[in-house]
Amino acid sequence: MGRQAYVHQEDCVGCELCTKICTAFQIGSNGKAEFLAKPNVAENEIQDAINNCPAQCITWKN
Ligand code: SF4
Repeated sequence: MGRQAYVHQEDCVGCELCTKICTAFQIGSNGKAEFLAKPNVAENEIQDAINNCPAQCITWKN
């Protein structure tokens, strides 16, 4: 398992951008993004999602 990310859902605006950048993100039933602990997700895709999130609410967990 690679590095994990965390979505601070209190700040997420549900724009879905991260889900388009990286398959490890999905929009949950509350309309906010969540990180799925999937194997084989490229760290650079996660970093791209972190860099492009308009709410700056994704961070690395480890
Ligand atoms: S890019 Fe950021 S604000 Fe948009 S859905 Fe993902 S975590 Fe939420």
